[in-house]
Amino acid sequence: MPKYEAVIGLETHVQVKTASKMFCACPNQYGADPNTLTCPVCMGLPGALPVPNKLAIRKTVEAGMLLNCTIAPYSKFDRKNYFYADMAKSFQLSQLDQPLCLGGKVHIGGKGFSGTEVVERDVQLNRIHLEEDVAKLSHKGTATIVDFNRCSLPLMEIVTEPDMHSADEVYNYLVTLKQILQYGNISDCDQEKGQMRCDVNVSIRPVGQKEFGTKAEIKNLNSIRAAHRAVEYEIWRQTNEIEAGRAIVQETRGWNDDTGESYSMRNKETVDDYRYFPEPDLMPIFLDDSYINEIRASLPELPEQRRARFIEEFSLTEYDAQVLTQDKETADYFETAARLVKTPKTLANWILTELLRELGANGITIAECPVSPERMAGLILLIEDNTINGKIAKTVLSEMLKSEKEAKQIVEAQGLSQVSDQGEIEMLVMKVIAENAVQVEQYKSGNPKVIQYLVGQVMKSSKGKANPQMTLELLKSKMDS
Ligand code: ADP
Ligand code: MG
Ligand code: ZN
Repeated sequence: MPKYEAVIGLETHVQVKTASKMFCACPNQYGADPNTLTCPVCMGLPGALPVPNKLAIRKTVEAGMLLNCTIAPYSKFDRKNYFYADMAKSFQLSQLDQPLCLGGKVHIGGKGFSGTEVVERDVQLNRIHLEEDVAKLSHKGTATIVDFNRCSLPLMEIVTEPDMHSADEVYNYLVTLKQILQYGNISDCDQEKGQMRCDVNVSIRPVGQKEFGTKAEIKNLNSIRAAHRAVEYEIWRQTNEIEAGRAIVQETRGWNDDTGESYSMRNKETVDDYRYFPEPDLMPIFLDDSYINEIRASLPELPEQRRARFIEEFSLTEYDAQVLTQDKETADYFETAARLVKTPKTLANWILTELLRELGANGITIAECPVSPERMAGLILLIEDNTINGKIAKTVLSEMLKSEKEAKQIVEAQGLSQVSDQGEIEMLVMKVIAENAVQVEQYKSGNPKVIQYLVGQVMKSSKGKANPQMTLELLKSKMDS
């Protein structure tokens, strides 16, 4: 029984997928030359006025609905004042006390990082607010380089309650959150591009104690893996501090992903004072019922709902449905093909084993798969109507990955059709029985397993084309008689 329990709350920043920045018409675009996507508004020049991005507000509301938040009919933007090189205006537009989305929850459960099981439950959210991103700073020696292209991109901040208790829960929460936001087309959540970054707040307390311990906040983790590691490390560090008789200081810490350690950045015993006040250049946001209802009616299906529907509609197992809905591309691929075949379960097996393995071996995603769902369905249809058996189907699939041909064309061109002609198989069976007297004798004297060997021999002499079921039956009837 562990002595301490960890308490963890997350603040996750997610860039919203829009065409333009949050308060100006500059493009929301990654990878352009530094400081080429700026204008007087996002550079904070005197007299420039912000205009809120409607799509960013809409997508934040959609995210709120997908995460079970209450949508606030009235919200506003506030100025968060501070002096730092990452914000030309010396303030950031954010939402302090009246954000767009309140409360909410994220259903977690299933796999943690190292394959451990995370118990199913809801993680409570506190809020989602909308703000503007800040410029990207790069430190080179003693110099700091500033790129304002990122400055003022729409950024959602999703804040949880102090409601998680392990690094694996944090991992599972972030994976689930990312999946939902990608499904909802709210953000691509591309961690390499900094589209999803989080701060983790960690404290520990003796098991059984109600009051929270003093927390440390580890800032700016730019991958889910890093968040998992940082939480593990921080729990370990705080446990050591307390065991050594030292008190935890409330502070902001950084994370070094190379050494796998957090380090103190600044003491937070005094609360930062940002002199927040309502942004005087923007009207508050009023969302009426018809707008909220229209958005609610347009929401896409979420992974969990899709999983349930796949099980119901296509008779898949829980496991198959789980893996197939992990990302939207795989789910879309499966669903398109499933509508064209007779037994979606067979299709699911082929996607989950052969297709994903082939794609993985070539380092490509299913979205880039050279075999369209329609062509894949064509292959499954040939398996279903016994034109080819599983073994031949593998050959056909690898041929399909290399060419534009339909499964049917390949089978016809190479004469791969399964032999289901009774007479033809019977001939092969007789030949195999004659040539394998030893095994036949073993079978007759009560070892039924050797029949698999004999089936293998018939398959071999038919170059893999014999119908395995018919082969088995014919072998049995010949030897049993
Ligand atoms: P701050 O005022 O320091 O920003 P907030 O109350 O705004 O703190 O909470 C920030 C984040 O820290 C939230 O995600 C919250 O759940 C989490 N949090 C608050 N108190 C604790 C605690 N004692 N231990 C762990 N996480 C906490
Ligand atoms: Mg806070
Ligand atoms: Zn601009």
